[in-house]
Amino acid sequence: MNLSQILYRLQQIDSQLDQSRTRLQAIETALTEDAALRQAQMNAKNAEEVYRSASKALRTAEANVTAQRIKIEQTEAALYGGRVRAPKELQDLQNESVSLKKYLGTLEDQQLDAMLAVEESENAHKSAQAALQQAIGTQAEHQAGLKGEQSELLKTVDRLTVERQAAVTSIASDALGAYERLRQQRRGIAVAKVTGRTCSACGTILNTSVVQAAASPSQLTPCPTCGRILYIG
Ligand SMILES: [Zn+2]
Repeated sequence: MNLSQILYRLQQIDSQLDQSRTRLQAIETALTEDAALRQAQMNAKNAEEVYRSASKALRTAEANVTAQRIKIEQTEAALYGGRVRAPKELQDLQNESVSLKKYLGTLEDQQLDAMLAVEESENAHKSAQAALQQAIGTQAEHQAGLKGEQSELLKTVDRLTVERQAAVTSIASDALGAYERLRQQRRGIAVAKVTGRTCSACGTILNTSVVQAAASPSQLTPCPTCGRILYIG
């Protein structure tokens, strides 16, 4: 293998390493993201609070109805018990009974509304719980997928690192230095393959003398436009 060929091989290894490392970073970030799960947790918590407060309101409404019925029973016991005889007092008791019964109707309506609110919030609570379970499952599945990909990529990085070490040993230090500098200056691509007289990295059409120079095994030839090392495959 001539030098441009070895550098091109090194370039391929480095590009794959770059890709793998970029993806590994994205996976690291994705593994810490749980926005959907946190939203589902918040929804479930809110729905539970609404359900609890509706249940509490229903208990209050039920207690109000019960207390009102007791008042009515007591008033009617006095009215029909026979101990109250004065017509004025009896009339007062009669009026009180009518008004207590009228208000009982209002309290019973409130109780019915409270029951409907409980039913509705209970259903919403159940739905939010189911959505939360689903979000937990989805998150676990997603994380398992990412972790699988992560472990494959780490193996790839290990393998490429070994291949890179082997490739680097046969490259003179000045050539390697030039390669590394070009990698930094040219967004990671130091070696460009020539395909049909064209620099594959920048698209420049190369003249014959440049192509001939690039074909020579004894020297490195830069692309006259982008400066990358040309490799004729
Ligand atoms: Zn070029």
